[in-house]
Amino acid sequence: MDTTTHLRSDLIRFIAMRRVSVATPDPIGHLHSVESGAAADGPGVRFVYFLAGCPFRCLYCHNPDTWKFSSGRPVTTTEALAEIRPFAGFLRRVGGVTLSGGDPLTQPAFAERLLSALHDDLGLHTALDTQGFLGHKVDDAFFDMVDLVLLDVKHADPERHRALTGRALTPTLDFARRLVDLGKPMWIRHVLIPGWTDDAADLHRLADHLLALGPAVERVDVLPYHTLGLAKWAALGRVSKLADTHPPTAASLASAVALLRSRGLPVV
Ligand code: SF4
Repeated sequence: MDTTTHLRSDLIRFIAMRRVSVATPDPIGHLHSVESGAAADGPGVRFVYFLAGCPFRCLYCHNPDTWKFSSGRPVTTTEALAEIRPFAGFLRRVGGVTLSGGDPLTQPAFAERLLSALHDDLGLHTALDTQGFLGHKVDDAFFDMVDLVLLDVKHADPERHRALTGRALTPTLDFARRLVDLGKPMWIRHVLIPGWTDDAADLHRLADHLLALGPAVERVDVLPYHTLGLAKWAALGRVSKLADTHPPTAASLASAVALLRSRGLPVV
């Protein structure tokens, strides 16, 4: 190869590398916080990334401090990955990693790159904790890197859902049906709030929605509303409409669980 040919091939390689780096920049996300050793956000021991930003305004939200992008620190995926690397070997054996928030789908490019590295490069079990409202922001290939979806269904009635969250219910149900089509397992999470979601008719309606999804629903968690987030609301200068609502009684919780189990749902 003469000098001119060498120069030409070097130039072609340089241009190709530039194209790769321009086409695949390291996305910057807004990371609210991380938690290592979480036990309630997927199977086994979880490392949880809480991404900032959420389109919902749930009256019972216990993390209102995650609602805005500005509540998170800007990090590249490379920097975010550095936080989990020391635990990766351990997590591979006993659990995995969960993307939560806020809602991780508010940052689709960052979430996708992070999941790709966590799932494909580090070989970790991955879970996505979402209400699915922004599911249209990611394509089907996104879910190749998600082993499990923790899907939050806030209310079974469309009007009450909007009153409780500020948003429509339909996108969440559409998202769930898409997961079924993709063969993606999901764990449903439903918060039991006295006076809001504990009505038997609403629970039956929830059961109708979930049974229609078939065996993709591997598990249902009924989570008791708690008041631990109210201090955060106060710190943000906000007052929750649920400020005077108490957690459900043990009997009410047991009754909701029994109702859903009686419909054949895998409530744990
Ligand atoms: S979806 Fe989650 S983070 Fe967003 S407002 Fe509701 S409870 Fe809070």
